[in-house]
Amino acid sequence: MPILIDHQVVKRPHRTPEFTAQDKEIRTILCPQMAPIHFELFQSVFENHGYRFEILPEIDRESVEDGLRYVNNDVCYPAIVVVGQLIQAMKSGKYDPDKTALMISQTCGGCRSTNYATFLKIAVTKAGFHHVPVIPFSVDIANGNTKGINVNFKMLKKMFLAFLYGDLLLTLSNRCRPYETVQGSVNVLVETWLKRLRTEILQNGKHRVTDFVTQIVHDFDVIELTGFQTRPRVGIVGEILIKYHPGANNHLISLIEQEGGEVVVPNILDFMLYCLTSDKQRKRYSHVPFLAGLKSSAGVWLIEHQRNKVRNILKKSRRFAPMETIQHLIQLAEPIVSTCNHTGEGWLLTAEMVELIEQNIPNIVCVQPFGCLPNHVTGKGVLKELRSRYNKSNITAIDYDPGSTEVNQLNRIKLLMAIALRNFPQ
Ligand code: SF4
Repeated sequence: MPILIDHQVVKRPHRTPEFTAQDKEIRTILCPQMAPIHFELFQSVFENHGYRFEILPEIDRESVEDGLRYVNNDVCYPAIVVVGQLIQAMKSGKYDPDKTALMISQTCGGCRSTNYATFLKIAVTKAGFHHVPVIPFSVDIANGNTKGINVNFKMLKKMFLAFLYGDLLLTLSNRCRPYETVQGSVNVLVETWLKRLRTEILQNGKHRVTDFVTQIVHDFDVIELTGFQTRPRVGIVGEILIKYHPGANNHLISLIEQEGGEVVVPNILDFMLYCLTSDKQRKRYSHVPFLAGLKSSAGVWLIEHQRNKVRNILKKSRRFAPMETIQHLIQLAEPIVSTCNHTGEGWLLTAEMVELIEQNIPNIVCVQPFGCLPNHVTGKGVLKELRSRYNKSNITAIDYDPGSTEVNQLNRIKLLMAIALRNFPQ
């Protein structure tokens, strides 16, 4: 029997105005925080191309409350965090709604990530800001399909560089900070480089990656450290926002360092490469248009080509090791999960855990939003298999949501650290 739809009853989807070319001149784009180092550089790229662009500071309890108030509470924690942050900013009175637009990421996967922009549109409408444009940040932006945002090759290249340098600074600082002889010196070095990258490098885009990476690695190679490598290393993997956002993971890096560990966080560019390679993996089971496959392969080649320059420099350093290639990560995941797991962090989550263990980092915190099914499959769901393959692995999975108690998370991390310290060769 056909289903009859009563058009009087069915509500129209929430609509907010589109961001136009004129809006570029008058509106400030607000973007929620995700990874403080990377996003500081990301902001510069937009500013440099004529946009008024502002990354919001870290979240607090109030922004989570706003997220809960305006987003359906079935929705994932990352959506609550980012929508809450944007609504809180609008309600603060600091931004004129007629001169503001809101940006939110949208990865178009098989889970709720596809709906983040819609969640935000509903939330801004409910909060009385229905006339504020919402800009979904997705692959459409790179393809030039988002009105008012004109991303040319130059801008795209700078965005990539923002993440390349962001990954590098995060990796090097996490390696050095626990051993710094002068307290705060590593963070000062990060700030110095961020300033330099923002002004000199991202502004003109004409520079040699090799020269700057060499200087950055050299600076971290010579910074004065005491007792280097005397702490157990602890990897953080999991859902992208919770993994990188200190406010969303209750300052996990600081906590592990306070408990006597050294943190290792995989690169954000791995996540981008994972997204780019999904067409190639899917091709084994379904039809992928030739052009789409070609674009993905070209993107992977370009990114890995640049990362090879970083690898070569890191290989020659005293303190740091190069990152793995995406091809190697695929090989690590394949014996455990299908690389057709493309929802959420998919197979990459499994690959990152195997990568850490094979690099002699058996201590891992796997962070995920409560109720995130995709990451429970390729994160929590593979722990039994990982423990049977690698009997020294010390992995704990921690759920994050607005209602989870910090004490519970703290206890699990303390237990992981106790085992890590006990197993660490003195
Ligand atoms: S990956 Fe998990 S947390 Fe992220 S949108 Fe999908 S279900 Fe939600």
